[in-house]
Formats: sequence, C-alpha cells, structure tokens
Amino acid sequence: MVLDITEAKKYPSRSYSFDFKFTPQEMVLNNPLAKFVGNARFKGSYIFSGGKVYVKGDITYSMKYPCDRCLKKINYKDTIPFEEVFYEFSDDKSDYTYNGNLLDLAKPADDYLILNMPLGMVCDKQCKGICPQCGKNLNQGSCDCQEQEISRNPFSKLLGGKF
Ligand SMILES: [Zn+2]
Ligand SMILES: [Zn+2]
Repeated sequence: MVLDITEAKKYPSRSYSFDFKFTPQEMVLNNPLAKFVGNARFKGSYIFSGGKVYVKGDITYSMKYPCDRCLKKINYKDTIPFEEVFYEFSDDKSDYTYNGNLLDLAKPADDYLILNMPLGMVCDKQCKGICPQCGKNLNQGSCDCQEQEISRNPFSKLLGGKF
C-alpha cells in the first residue's frame, strides 16, 4: 500500500485519491480466535502541502470474532475513519513519515486497526455462555451442574429458589 506522491508534490493542494485492497495482518487481532474475512479496503485521498502529506479516508474490514461468553463466531464489519499527517522528517517516533516520493500506508493502517479493534463482544445480550464445569453451551439448554449449584446454595429456599 504505497502511494507515489510525485504528482502531488508537483501540484500542492491538489487532491489525489487512492483505493487499496489489502490483507490485514493477523497480528493486529486482539483475540486468538478472531479471524479476518476476505480483504480489507483502504480508500481515501491525499494532498501535499507545506512539505507534509495529508491523508484522509477510511478502512473497511470484516472478521469473525468470538462471543465473550459462548465463543460463537460473530460476523463483524467495521469502517474506521482515517486521518493523518505524514512528515518528510520527524524526530518524534509517533509521527508518520514518507520517504522521498513514496508514502507507505501499511503501518498506519495496522495501527488504526489495532486501535479500533473491539475489546470484546457478545453474540446476544441474553447469551447464557458456556458452563464453566461441563462446557455445555447453555443457550442450547441447561446442564445438570447448574441444578446442583442451586441445591447446594444454603440460601436457595430463603431466596425463593431464585439463586
Ligand atoms: Zn454468545
Ligand atoms: Zn454444566
């Protein structure tokens, strides 16, 4: 995902567009059970002005992400707005730079994906999850462990059998 900014440097403030399809790196996923689906797309535009390159666009991607409670794979799609300034030189390591006439969007795209990765999600607000004892998916029916748990609770009767 390298932009050739030769033209943009000749005509400052003129806008140029780009549209890349790319395969995001697995390492940007924050969950070992998550997986990208198909290609991601990074499209937008850029201008050169005052020695800097301004890039604006959005990154769209799809992935399968496990439910926090039952591990069911959720189809997740997101579009992340992207906006950055690229410098020719910078001492600040957090700044993005371009190299001569080339501007590489790969690292910034990874950074935006990492920053915007969901921290977790559930397949359904009502998801009952998996029994920690027998591993049964409780959305498909309750298991025996649960009932044992209830009868073992000394306050069960007092609480009207609710707990
Ligand atoms: Zn679930
Ligand atoms: Zn169980």
